[in-house]
Amino acid sequence: MRSRYCAYVLDDVKYLSETWHPDFRPRELTIDPDVRYIGLTIIASDQQDRQATIEFEARLLANGQVQAMHEKSGFTLEQGRWLYTSGDMLRPSFKAWKPGRNEGCPCGSGKKFKRCCS
Ligand SMILES: [Zn+2]
Repeated sequence: MRSRYCAYVLDDVKYLSETWHPDFRPRELTIDPDVRYIGLTIIASDQQDRQATIEFEARLLANGQVQAMHEKSGFTLEQGRWLYTSGDMLRPSFKAWKPGRNEGCPCGSGKKFKRCCS
């Protein structure tokens, strides 16, 4: 799961595609270039035999706003690899908000927002 998140951060479409169960994978897989992932919190994880779920919330920046993506993702183990099947979208813990240009950037870089991710 964490590695899939990193793939989003790094725009690694090939890796995302390889770790997505073929029965569930969208035909066209693209990463929105206007979305930047800035944080990840694993809320819960559970594994039973060859099935696992991971609930997480990712923070992302899109259209100048910080947004949350809260999802419970399902994975299945096939031939030694965990493959993503599908996810349930859950209610985010916060509403989208817009950082001020002179505020510290929400990505945690320590720079002002206007000089970083805006
Ligand atoms: Zn930033």
